[in-house]
Amino acid sequence: MAEDLLVIDGSQGEGGGQILRTSLALAMITGRPFRMVNVRGNRPKPGLRRQHLTAVRAAARVACAAITGDEVDSRELMFAPQSVKPGDYRFDIGSAGSTMLVLQTVLPALMLAAGPSTLVLEGGTHNFGAPPFPFLDKTFLPLLARMGPRVALSIERAGFAPRGGGRAVAQITPAPLRPIVLTRRGVVRRTEARAIIAGLPRDIAERELNVVRRLLGLRPEQLVVDELPPDQGPGNLVTVEVEAEHLTEVFTAFGARGEPAEDVAREAATEARRYLDRDVPVGEHLADQVLLPIALAGGGQFVTGPLTLHSTTNIETIRRFLDIAVAVEEAEKGTNHVRIGR
Ligand code: ATP
Repeated sequence: MAEDLLVIDGSQGEGGGQILRTSLALAMITGRPFRMVNVRGNRPKPGLRRQHLTAVRAAARVACAAITGDEVDSRELMFAPQSVKPGDYRFDIGSAGSTMLVLQTVLPALMLAAGPSTLVLEGGTHNFGAPPFPFLDKTFLPLLARMGPRVALSIERAGFAPRGGGRAVAQITPAPLRPIVLTRRGVVRRTEARAIIAGLPRDIAERELNVVRRLLGLRPEQLVVDELPPDQGPGNLVTVEVEAEHLTEVFTAFGARGEPAEDVAREAATEARRYLDRDVPVGEHLADQVLLPIALAGGGQFVTGPLTLHSTTNIETIRRFLDIAVAVEEAEKGTNHVRIGR
């Protein structure tokens, strides 16, 4: 019905792909159709890129939706879902775009669906500017499992930009969402730095780990070189995994052509150090991503550092679809307590 159609301005706030993905996810779950104008309006190259288009089409298949404007570069989109159909799906981005962001789009509906699903996702698996596989594997999906739904995610082949060619498989076992409280980190039990490398000299990984070891004061047994088959590269990233009593966080920096390995390592170590010094449980990327499951659970709370534009924009988008209150209370030392509830 026309009066049910939400009109969303995709250029507001952060103005990138996340507004689109959150809108798709919530339209699928609520059955509410929407029209998005100014898709990715805040980006130098606005409109749908291949990764976003794959997300739109994936959402349309899963929710049997009618869509218009589903083309590369399209700046306007209409999405009218019907019912969510769990099952077996294969989504191929056709570029090195992030498969993890396509998963982020369809997972909320499928994790609450009437039956299990298996997704085969092809494209990039470790992308700059997107949740990389290690973050989903160690941080996001374990939290989701604590809330109810279980997702077994595996990488059959890694995919790095610009080459792509990665393949991930997600097996989703739905369950109702329980609220979660993430207000304390507790004692840090383990810190591990990992240099993942494919089709590049091993020496790069060793130099990276040396820098992280020095900056974070790690011992040799806390350092891991993860050398993937060379034909999956070229690709390189450094992750620092911080396992604390109440959750595990993963910080990532990506190697890029022309960027010294030492700088990549320093970036990952600095992010981890900032997190450790602040004594908050939820890091900045997890903050914007955990908002949606908590809102869908009907409540929960978490403590994080300064809210990013991704987080504040996601709160706005969620509130367009769900009748839920989000209160952000700024505590001392640049920390924020986010409470979500009806
Ligand atoms: P655009 O191309 O429009 O910028 P996009 O669709 O590629 O957009 P964003 O809208 O910027 O992406 O959203 C990126 C998502 O990836 C956010 O949820 C962000 O928290 C997450 N993300 C980015 N980097 C990391 C990281 N290192 N670890 C975990 N999550 C990350």
